[in-house]
Amino acid sequence: MCPTGERFVHGTGGIFSAGRLICHCLLIESHDGLVLVDTGIGLDAIQAPDKLLGAPFLLMTRPRLDPEETARRQIERLGYNVDDVRHIVLTHLDLDHAGGIADFPRAAVHVFESEHEAAMAPSSPFESHRYQQAMWAHGPNWVRHTVQGERWQGFEAVQTIGSDILLVPLHGHSRGHCGVAVQTEKGWLLHAGDAYFAHGEVHGPTRQTSLGLDLFQRLTEVDSKARLANQDRLRDLARDAAPSVQIICSHDHTEFEACRSAATTA
Ligand SMILES: [Zn+2]
Repeated sequence: MCPTGERFVHGTGGIFSAGRLICHCLLIESHDGLVLVDTGIGLDAIQAPDKLLGAPFLLMTRPRLDPEETARRQIERLGYNVDDVRHIVLTHLDLDHAGGIADFPRAAVHVFESEHEAAMAPSSPFESHRYQQAMWAHGPNWVRHTVQGERWQGFEAVQTIGSDILLVPLHGHSRGHCGVAVQTEKGWLLHAGDAYFAHGEVHGPTRQTSLGLDLFQRLTEVDSKARLANQDRLRDLARDAAPSVQIICSHDHTEFEACRSAATTA
């Protein structure tokens, strides 16, 4: 996504040049097939952006609507078949995270129960915009999760596919927003979704953000107190658990580039 006003969005750069926000998804080879964490914007939305993404989102974020950037096309380029993706685990159901679920019609779609409830029955005009009902009109195989007393690194957690991929409730941005913790060969990777937007909000002794991203998060939150408290907890985790826990969010391009270069040099 390329919103106008790089300096407003990132705190540096030109006033009129474009910022850069990623839809960071993970593809995991699990014991039960491929698992996709978040799906970004899908092919349907690229074909009918006005209908599926809506004018406010298009105007504000100016997404680059290139089919080759969708999760589906990238996975196919890796040599996989679309049905190799057996599970999708979603941080939440906002249109830029759940937009690609129809591209994997046979996958089980794991989501936190309260997020599913919020998306199926939006309670405000803003929720009606963020949750695009057409994105699940194909009738996905939902797997809805609730917490059952399990813990991970001091957080509540829920197992999704075995004990290696967990939903970690981080509510505030949306009603049932979660992080997704993934056990890797190098330790845990926590995909924190939209629990924070700028690397400096969580990685560093104090919260550092930009005017634009701070404002955007305030405009899209459902619970400010919970959202900021969760950023505090993530900052503690980033400080105390590194390097055995790596934390990333959905939209920060510096984190995306760091992951990509680590992957290509591994
Ligand atoms: Zn988002």
